Amino acid sequence: MSTKRDYYEILGVTKNATQEEIKKAYRKVAIQFHPDKNQGDKEAEEKFKEAAEAYEVLSDTEKRSQYDRFGHQRPGAGGFRGQDMNMDDIFSQFGDIFGGGSPFDSFFGGGGGRTRQRKGSNLRIKLKLSLEEIANGVEKKIKVNRLVRAEGVTFKNCTTCGGSGQVRKVVNTMLGQMVSTNACPACNGAGQLIDKRPPGVDSSGLVSKEDILSVKIPAGVSEGMQLSMSGKGNEAPGGGIPGDLLILIEESEDKELKRNGNDLIYDLHISFIDAALGTSVDVPSIGGKARIKIEPGTQSGKILRLRGKGLKDINGYSSGDQLIYINVWTPKKLTSEEKAKLEALRSSPNFQPHPDSTDKGFFDRMKEYFG
Ligand SMILES: [Zn+2]
Repeated sequence: MSTKRDYYEILGVTKNATQEEIKKAYRKVAIQFHPDKNQGDKEAEEKFKEAAEAYEVLSDTEKRSQYDRFGHQRPGAGGFRGQDMNMDDIFSQFGDIFGGGSPFDSFFGGGGGRTRQRKGSNLRIKLKLSLEEIANGVEKKIKVNRLVRAEGVTFKNCTTCGGSGQVRKVVNTMLGQMVSTNACPACNGAGQLIDKRPPGVDSSGLVSKEDILSVKIPAGVSEGMQLSMSGKGNEAPGGGIPGDLLILIEESEDKELKRNGNDLIYDLHISFIDAALGTSVDVPSIGGKARIKIEPGTQSGKILRLRGKGLKDINGYSSGDQLIYINVWTPKKLTSEEKAKLEALRSSPNFQPHPDSTDKGFFDRMKEYFG
């Protein structure tokens, strides 16, 4: 655990400080160490982040009481957030501190890239694929309900911002007056408001429409993987860009082939007579059947490997194998005739187990497979 300074000490308040005092103290520290004011000063940046973390915890009554009880080592939750708080998180905190938007955005002139681009919301779908589809990749036509910009909507200029989409606000801070420019809250920065809209169209001028999208799924995807198709989500109100279509992959379980990473595993059961005398069998595999040879004297538990017959890696560089696990199946019902034949063989020396070094046990096989 790193040694962290006490949150109260960082903000310069006492343990009994009220929420209002904490807020005031943070505002002061944030202004003092703001990166736009201390360009290139690493120490100031650290102090700025440290203060943001302290404020995040102390401004939340639940987190604060946990901190009071346990300090930095919060049990079971890996400590408090903070190390992973990025600048955007910190600036979004300023909404509460300075009341709507951060005056720093415009006052200090910095922060390019912090301007909000209007983007439609993402559309999420689940897509269930068979093993065959995963193995070969597939192109699917899917039906989605997307929000699209509606026809027949008329607009009027926003009276709040006069059509500019921006509002200016003068804020009094410890550094004096700051002028901040923010997206107009009435029109969300579009500059226009909807005048008339046909029925079924929402207040941002969007309407739900059924759409057929063609999606190409590459070979080798797996359960839980999320693919993103840029621009295929909901359209944005006004002049923004559409959101993305997020496709969550689900695998339908194959009856015969089980997946382990890019390897496919097949459980083969053979009779002990076939194991002793040898034979050929067809096993299911991707794209049809594969014929495999069972050597005379094959032991139960042997793993045969069909190289490259597994799934292609999603990155396309390699392929997994198909593994065939051989189970020697023992009959559970025997007629008296069959019993008599086997009985005759029971004491034959060839039927007494005498494994040699080529007859691997469970442990060796696991090692061979998992490395
Ligand atoms: Zn406006």
